[in-house]
Amino acid sequence: MENLYLKEKNKKDCNGCGACIYVCPKHCIHMEEDEEGFLYPVIHEEECIHCNKCKNICSNYSKKQKEINKAYIAINTCEEERKNSASGGMFYILAKYVIEKNGVVFGVKYNEDLTAVHDYATTLEECKSFMGSKYVRSKTEGIYEKVKEFLMQEKYVLFTGTPCQIAGLKTFLSKEYEKLLTCEIICHANPSPKIFGKYVEELEQKKALKVKDIKFRSKENGWDNSTPIIEYENGEKEEDITFYKGFIAELFNRPSCHSCAFVGNKGYADFTIGDLWGIQKVAPEMNDNKGVSLLIVNSNKAEKIFSEIKENLSFKSIDVDLALSYNHATNSPMHPKREKFFKVVNQEGNVIKYIKKYTKPSLWRRIKRKLKRILVNN
Ligand SMILES: Cc1cc2nc3c(=O)[nH]c(=O)nc-3n(C[C@H](O)[C@H](O)[C@H](O)COP(=O)(O)OP(=O)(O)OC[C@H]3O[C@@H](n4cnc5c(N)ncnc54)[C@H](O)[C@@H]3O)c2cc1C
Ligand code: SF4
Ligand code: SF4
Ligand code: SF4
Repeated sequence: MENLYLKEKNKKDCNGCGACIYVCPKHCIHMEEDEEGFLYPVIHEEECIHCNKCKNICSNYSKKQKEINKAYIAINTCEEERKNSASGGMFYILAKYVIEKNGVVFGVKYNEDLTAVHDYATTLEECKSFMGSKYVRSKTEGIYEKVKEFLMQEKYVLFTGTPCQIAGLKTFLSKEYEKLLTCEIICHANPSPKIFGKYVEELEQKKALKVKDIKFRSKENGWDNSTPIIEYENGEKEEDITFYKGFIAELFNRPSCHSCAFVGNKGYADFTIGDLWGIQKVAPEMNDNKGVSLLIVNSNKAEKIFSEIKENLSFKSIDVDLALSYNHATNSPMHPKREKFFKVVNQEGNVIKYIKKYTKPSLWRRIKRKLKRILVNN
């Protein structure tokens, strides 16, 4: 597991998991935010004794063999739990399994100022804040140590996050724990926390109200039509797609996401969960437009747990490659104006204006769309 980032400082090689900082005997590596708002490890050269330990460890290039390769189309049979989830409600079923064992669940929530952070929950009520997709890189400071602390107390632990965060945790732990269950989301990319923070700030300035919550995948208009809904402190709700559009257009995602080492059917975690896009084609009878999960079972541990939780699911087997063929199966290139976007936003602020500007279809694409519409209607 060579650390290409610490050797060559090429940002595409670092997913920001933070695992390498823990191997340093001098504690002289820390994570520092760059001008795009992403964290990278930095060595204090004055204190470094050049032992090279950090150069020989990196989650980004860890190798793991899948033990099992089974996939399911899965739906949480509790309507309320599915409604509050981004997809078919698989996360909450796993959370329930672990909480019922008096365990601890780790996931991503918004804190009071709407920063996405990894945190832990010991009750199902607390787990609710982890439901729903927060389309921004989460802060993980101190979280791996907390996982280890609970494992040392012989607690069951469910850790959920992006595949690179799972790989980061496993690199940090450096050994297997029987009571640790991991669940990764299928992950297209992680947007910049700095751009997200500025976006929230601008929404608040415009309304002169605090933003209380952002549901990127609200099912109010159906799952096929999931829309980002902004909720303000006074209860007012507003639909706003600006940030989501920039995320999908690859305008401000982490550089490593464009050459993600975890893309495809790698299965770093015990379970992989995502959206079952293509449900209309592969199992139309299961599509009620309320959300369907793709659940991939990657380990013997996960297979055993699946046999215990399946009574809470409506499910059907599916070929893994077929399911992934409708999903994020290969890396997407950066937006051609990504660099320009960060430059102008760092100079002028005003992210909403520039996301809109750079995600607006070109004149030629708009003409093509209009022509297509005219031809279809005639
Ligand atoms: C940034 C991002 C990109 C994604 N890209 C894809 C994709 O390309 N294809 C696809 O099929 N699915 C993708 N997903 C996953 C999908 O949106 C759902 O999160 C997943 O299917 C779980 O849904 P659920 O109904 O089981 O659970 P929910 O109840 O919605 O649970 C949400 C789960 O996601 C975790 N989570 C939320 N936000 C974050 C975050 N910022 N970082 C890490 N973990 C987070 C929570 O901890 C929890 O485990 C993405 C999610 C995120 C956050
Ligand atoms: S271990 Fe994580 S933080 Fe360190 S260089 Fe590798 S990917 Fe980056
Ligand atoms: S070379 Fe050794 S001392 Fe220097 S930063 Fe890396 S781990 Fe720490
Ligand atoms: S796309 Fe890859 S590198 Fe980026 S956050 Fe997801 S798993 Fe990590």
